[in-house]
Amino acid sequence: MKKGIVWFRNNLRLADNESLTRALDECDEVLCVYFLEPRIWNSMAEPSRMGSIRAKFILESLLELEGDIQELGGTMEFNQGRAVDEIPKLMESFGADRCYAQKEDAWEETEQEHLLAVQINLILSGGRGILEESDLPFALNDLPAVFSSFRRKVEKKMQIRSLFPPPRSMACSWETRTELPSLTSLGFEEHSTDERAVLDFRGGAKGGKKWMYQWIWERDCLKEYKETRNGMVGADFSSKLSPWLSIGCISAVEVYWEIKKYESERVANESTYWLLFELLWREFFRFVARRYGAQIFQRNGIKDSDEKMTLGNPKTFQRWKEGRTPNSFVNANMIELAKTGWMSNRGRQNVASYLVHDLGQDWLAGARHFEEHLIDYDPCSNYGNWMYLGGVGNDPRPNRAFNLEKQAQYYDPDQEFRKLWLA
Ligand SMILES: Cc1cc2nc3c(=O)[nH]c(=O)nc-3n(C[C@H](O)[C@H](O)[C@H](O)COP(=O)(O)OP(=O)(O)OC[C@H]3O[C@@H](n4cnc5c(N)ncnc54)[C@H](O)[C@@H]3O)c2cc1C
Repeated sequence: MKKGIVWFRNNLRLADNESLTRALDECDEVLCVYFLEPRIWNSMAEPSRMGSIRAKFILESLLELEGDIQELGGTMEFNQGRAVDEIPKLMESFGADRCYAQKEDAWEETEQEHLLAVQINLILSGGRGILEESDLPFALNDLPAVFSSFRRKVEKKMQIRSLFPPPRSMACSWETRTELPSLTSLGFEEHSTDERAVLDFRGGAKGGKKWMYQWIWERDCLKEYKETRNGMVGADFSSKLSPWLSIGCISAVEVYWEIKKYESERVANESTYWLLFELLWREFFRFVARRYGAQIFQRNGIKDSDEKMTLGNPKTFQRWKEGRTPNSFVNANMIELAKTGWMSNRGRQNVASYLVHDLGQDWLAGARHFEEHLIDYDPCSNYGNWMYLGGVGNDPRPNRAFNLEKQAQYYDPDQEFRKLWLA
């Protein structure tokens, strides 16, 4: 009898899950497991890697996933140790000779893969984005330095795979030994959704799919996304799919095919293309992370430079974090982030530019603050965008400083957004 472990990572879904599909095809029994890695789930750490808003969203997603797995006859374990130590032990107890997992892009996760691959039979599959490394029309080492060149090359030959169907049943004779810990047992605080939040984000594939369907079809937002995506108050402007995409409750390929369906059944225009364009930014930063490894988390980023980067002033940085700077547009955005885990893309660009260029602070500290607080934190997109704005990334322009007054005037002309968060 062939037994395998399915290690869930940033692919918390059953549908369109390549590693799960492969495991079920190749094994008679599979045991599913998720690791609440101590380096991330330590709520006492200073600074913390994850705040309670994202922790809650992930736990909701895991609870739903566990229920779906059990309904199909499968079993899920939740382990609070390190995957690199615990997977070999679990395989031995279960009698598995292989472990299936989604290949990730960022350095810590790829290090886990290297450490495990020398100990066990680790079978990695794609699924993190719409493209795999093998789809690129160039070697990873020749990744174009700027996005527009990446996009042009990739778009010429882009062929997106079809979806993997959800499994119908799962077999597992293993008696569960662990249960999903609660938010408070992990040391995180319970909180209720701020009524000003753009959306009441609930973790799980069902909520993600439901919202994707509503936003694209029922609210019909996709057809004017390009014009409205910078709106700052309310749910209808940008897609708000990032929290579910970040931990893989929905896959980027599922979003891609939903766009294509909408284009064939309703309308294909610049806006429908633009959502794909934005998803390609996500792809770009995934491959930047793969190409440069640990460098994207370092102060000098991926620029070849020995320039001494500024560390800044702790008090100034603290005021930025708390939304107590002299700039009300920045403050409103920072308060929204603290209260809800969300900030619009427009807000993110502006507060990052302000921190680096107006306040002269360390971009890396800003990126770490976002890492802790964003509900949609993704290492590649977060550090990729921050490096870009910090002048140590993939920006062809040496100094991408925003004019905050102009931006606030243009994107929040009646101060609706500022009044909402600063009242
Ligand atoms: C300083 C900074 C930090 C950021 N940190 C993160 C992060 O941790 N996680 C994250 O998912 N995004 C991050 N972004 C990118 C972007 O702000 C968010 O993806 C976007 O705001 C999410 O909202 P949405 O789903 O409504 O986006 P939409 O406008 O609806 O776009 C659809 C999808 O395209 C992708 N996307 C859009 N813009 C970008 C971009 N600039 N870079 C990469 N992918 C993009 C996202 O997956 C997004 O869900 C960051 C941007 C900046 C400037």
